[in-house]
Amino acid sequence: MHKSKVLEYAIVRMKHLNVRLTPQRVAVLEHLLNSKLHPTANNIYQAVEHRFPGMSLATVYNNLNFLCKNGLARELTFSNASSRYDGDTTDHYHIICSNCSKIVDFYYPSLKEIEALAEQTTDFKVSHHQLEIYGTCKTCRD
Ligand code: ZN
Ligand code: MN
Repeated sequence: MHKSKVLEYAIVRMKHLNVRLTPQRVAVLEHLLNSKLHPTANNIYQAVEHRFPGMSLATVYNNLNFLCKNGLARELTFSNASSRYDGDTTDHYHIICSNCSKIVDFYYPSLKEIEALAEQTTDFKVSHHQLEIYGTCKTCRD
């Protein structure tokens, strides 16, 4: 789906959810959809705050939580660093540079066999899995 279509779709979804479509919320989502960088809340705040004088970082967090809760964005959590946010909610995995924290998308068929194997061998009911690959990006190696 083209990015402008995704934004249109998200706006329709939000109208259906009966939430107030504040310009700040649309701006946060728009920034997420246009960024390949998996920004932090603070990155997003810095990118949009000039358009909304007086807006706080907390507003950005509230909007991000709302978007994630409603399946319009994804939060990527890390134990020792700030969460990063992804406007691409399609199935994909991430590779992360251990030096500069750059996050790049890569696509691989979802690892459903592993989930099935885990269920069979442990008698758990699997809800989801998380996979991150770490390395050093080209820029950091040069
Ligand atoms: Zn790097
Ligand atoms: Mn991604």
